[in-house]
Amino acid sequence: MKVIDVLVLSPHPDDDVIGCGGSIAKHVRAGARVTVVIPAGRERSMLAESYPGETFEAETDAANNMLGVHRCVKLTAPFGDLPPDRGFLTELVKIMREVRPQVVYLPHADDDDLEHQAVHQAGLTALRTAQSQFVHRHGLAMPAPKLVLGYEVWAPLSRFQYVEDIGAQLETKVAAMRCYQSQLNHRSWDEGVRGLAAYRGLITSGGGYAEVFQVLSPAGGRRD
Ligand SMILES: [Zn+2]
Repeated sequence: MKVIDVLVLSPHPDDDVIGCGGSIAKHVRAGARVTVVIPAGRERSMLAESYPGETFEAETDAANNMLGVHRCVKLTAPFGDLPPDRGFLTELVKIMREVRPQVVYLPHADDDDLEHQAVHQAGLTALRTAQSQFVHRHGLAMPAPKLVLGYEVWAPLSRFQYVEDIGAQLETKVAAMRCYQSQLNHRSWDEGVRGLAAYRGLITSGGGYAEVFQVLSPAGGRRD
């Protein structure tokens, strides 16, 4: 049986947990290999000064273990600028061509956080480049992923085209969020994660827990 590869772009270490942590755990349960890519933009974060890098690193590792993430790649190129830095794009293309994912997750198109926007844009640009037969560097052109999904962090989607029932993964998702203890000292984000999933479950199927997504074009563009 062919193993499904899933690629998740997470601007900040906990965005993947909030946006698609339940779906990640569900993919892993179904036998998929999940790779999470985190750009090294932590120094720009407001909370960065008060916590040493190692604390964050250890929390990220614990959250990834909780979800069953196969591999976490922390990029070193600068990111956060619009348009995205070329070095960052190149690193993304390389990792995409290496992983050759069937499913890709990235922040949705209407997230107004500047760093989330930058990763959304860079993700789509890198997807196009990684599929291009005309770009010969950084590995072989990859086939188009079957599904490219935009996830919501704390900027909920007003319209969505894809729903994932995460009833069986909810506690794993909340536990992964609790690995980020440094963030929970400020606010109960774990309760936020539970609340968002309950809200999505309620409006999509009358109860339970869900994650919702914007469906983006596998070719690397926005699909309206
Ligand atoms: Zn973020």
